[in-house]
Amino acid sequence: MTDVEQQATPASSQWFERARAVSPGGVNSPVRAFRAVGGTPRFMVSAEGSWLTDADDTTYLDLVGSWGPMLLGHAHPQVISAVQDVAARGTSFGTPSLPEVELAEEIVARAPVESVRLVSSGTEATMSAIRLARGFTGRNRIVKFAGCYHGHVDALLAEAGSGLVTLGIPGTPGVPEHVTADVIVLPYNDTAAVTEAFERYGDEIACLVTEAAAGNMGVVAPDPGFNAFLARTCREHGALFVSDEVMTGFRLSRAGHWGIEGAKEGWRPDLLTFGKVMGGGFPAAAFGGRRDVMDHLAPSGPVYQAGTLSGNPVATTAGLTTLRLADDAVYRSIDEWSAEARRLVSDALDEAGVPHVVQEVGSMFSILWGTTTRARSFADVQAQEAWRYGPFFHAMLEAGIYLPPSAYESWFVSAAHDDQGLSRMASALPAAARAAAAA
Ligand code: PMP
Repeated sequence: MTDVEQQATPASSQWFERARAVSPGGVNSPVRAFRAVGGTPRFMVSAEGSWLTDADDTTYLDLVGSWGPMLLGHAHPQVISAVQDVAARGTSFGTPSLPEVELAEEIVARAPVESVRLVSSGTEATMSAIRLARGFTGRNRIVKFAGCYHGHVDALLAEAGSGLVTLGIPGTPGVPEHVTADVIVLPYNDTAAVTEAFERYGDEIACLVTEAAAGNMGVVAPDPGFNAFLARTCREHGALFVSDEVMTGFRLSRAGHWGIEGAKEGWRPDLLTFGKVMGGGFPAAAFGGRRDVMDHLAPSGPVYQAGTLSGNPVATTAGLTTLRLADDAVYRSIDEWSAEARRLVSDALDEAGVPHVVQEVGSMFSILWGTTTRARSFADVQAQEAWRYGPFFHAMLEAGIYLPPSAYESWFVSAAHDDQGLSRMASALPAAARAAAAA
């Protein structure tokens, strides 16, 4: 941290020092640290709508949205009031409760799942889904794609995205080799590699797990027909197709990414995982899918999975209230704001002479730096001029815009983003684009 920064953010600097004294890197999740971009992480104290306020009383336009959950914006009055009401009646019972049933019903109504199990994080959701897939098929091998992140599940950290790319952690220290021995990692959007892997190992593959659209190596859209091809290939080989919609679920449409692709093309994953938006800013996540597969879970079946706080009434009430409010108008407004923001960013970068691609899927987007060729894989993404992002990020931060502190993360928009946010973007972007050009 520089002296200039310490002066500019004295309270955050002090909190960061205290945090580092008692926790590794001073953060409880690596991507929150400013390792890739340098400087002092801002310690936020409150948030409302599309705005965050830090410990130094500086207000930022928020394009992180808690990494996806805040679809309606921060502190939505109806979500807060529902949470207050339910919390006043007790915060955890360790018994079945009402809102968890209603949330499961809402998920089943929106997404292509017949039955769901609620958990507390996306990591738990994907970990449990692959255990279930292995238990259901009696097979051990798993296929995943390089650059896709599915939480910090031991087996799925191989060539994963998100904080691992940001921090340049290639492998999985702490994960014994035998745990990843059954994991086949393939290049994203590479149908030939998928075909070859299934020809070779088809009858040993329990499941293929993929992000419904990749958002953890920056945004990399699936090629048209790619997910349909994966679904078909899995079916031909008796493997389960697991679509990870933790990031995209209930964000890209009422039914997540599947709603803008699978619903139209007529295919369904066997299992899906959800998190983020469905918790409304609280720890709630889920996995679900075909009833015959889900019925293999305890107590209906032999595959064990459990959680003290699973289906927690406060978390499920926040999620349920969020989903009930997430109507077509919400998705329309997010799509429109995102399109306008993408146009502003792209125009400013063009103006400053920075070659780039706006990588997008629905309302999620990120910038690929120093090239005009769309990235389709992790290798493509890694070849970009990522160093241009730090100066861009800091110029935006200085102008009161909080972006993901890494080039390898999606930007997230909420229904609370409005014209005031766009004007702040418009005034901040020219200087930020010049900073990127000069880098
Ligand atoms: N899957 C995907 C696609 C994700 O984006 C994430 C989190 N960014 C996870 C799983 C893990 O979720 P969590 O951080 O809640 O464990």
